[in-house]
Amino acid sequence: MIYLDYAADAPVDPAVLERFCQVSRNFPGNPNSDHPAGQAARAELDRATASIAALLGCKPSEVIYTSGATESNNLALKGIAKAERHRGKHILSTQLEHSSVGGSLTALQQQGWEIDLLDIRRDGAIDLDQLRELLRPDTTLLAVTAVDSELGTVQPLDQIREILKDFPRCRLHVDATQAVGRIGLSFDGIDTLSLAPHKLGGINGSGLLLKREALVVEPLLHGGASTTIYRSGTPALALAASMETALRLALERREETFRHVQALNVRLREALSAYPKLQINSPAGAVPHILNVSVEGVKGAAFQKALSDRGICVSVKLACSSDGMPSKAVYAVSRDRKRALCSWRISLSGAVSEADIDGFLAAFRDCYAALVRP
Ligand code: PLP
Repeated sequence: MIYLDYAADAPVDPAVLERFCQVSRNFPGNPNSDHPAGQAARAELDRATASIAALLGCKPSEVIYTSGATESNNLALKGIAKAERHRGKHILSTQLEHSSVGGSLTALQQQGWEIDLLDIRRDGAIDLDQLRELLRPDTTLLAVTAVDSELGTVQPLDQIREILKDFPRCRLHVDATQAVGRIGLSFDGIDTLSLAPHKLGGINGSGLLLKREALVVEPLLHGGASTTIYRSGTPALALAASMETALRLALERREETFRHVQALNVRLREALSAYPKLQINSPAGAVPHILNVSVEGVKGAAFQKALSDRGICVSVKLACSSDGMPSKAVYAVSRDRKRALCSWRISLSGAVSEADIDGFLAAFRDCYAALVRP
């Protein structure tokens, strides 16, 4: 099998798994208990949280542990919208968001919020002029993805932060799930930021929301204080420790991984460009970890199945929304519905070898010959 779906999930790094087991074995107590076992667990949790905060450039009090980026996005969007509802009910976002952002916004819309989605330009970036036009005094939130999961487009966060300086009451939420560990990213000027270490060799069911200390959000789950009043439940100490290890390793290796993945991406782009019916959808400035393509006249699902039959794992649209609809992201950059229906995604990591790319290209050649009419 050749796995090329790292944007959907990455295998757990053995060091991360080892850390999870070690902390599970060594710290049996609940970090909120007053006895020695609880206090030892609390000290370990505080240590892991301080280290995560240092890695991500925020304060320990700004780290909220969640079950994944879906929960982080839900908490940030619904939490901000509800906490700010007396000031305004207008929210801005984009056409490119993950279903956990889109779904949260739909839920808010059904409860009376007004949602406007910014258009995507042909280069994959949001339309900043339209952002300036649509911002209003009652806009309480702008939700934008840092790197989109289908195309790998990088959004101009610096310019967005600059524009928002004129709207100090508008909060900025960034879904950085595909960005952290792949590109450099700063929490400056951002109010809430979602990420999921399981995309980086962490364990599934673990996620983070960074939230500015002074920002009040309405919790999704009500209960005790846990590690924070914003997310109740017994703190998952071993998962927190595993996230620290996953993030540390991914950030330490980020530049080396980037160079490796970039070389693979260049090779893929060159080899695939030789096929006349293949179109590359990921814009030139996209992260090299994600390469979205369409093969004219062959639905993405059909190409994916043919590759799967040959042991190659790629994805069609997102793992969370395989509904047979054309990709909104590909449509946004191509304005071509058929091309959007025929799109699929290769996603890479530091673990992908040149031999994997050889294997993929050989399988691609066979699938192309079998599926594409001359
Ligand atoms: N946001 C983006 C951009 C994603 O790519 C994903 C997962 O693919 C998510 C959010 C949801 O992440 P999780 O699976 O941790 O809930």
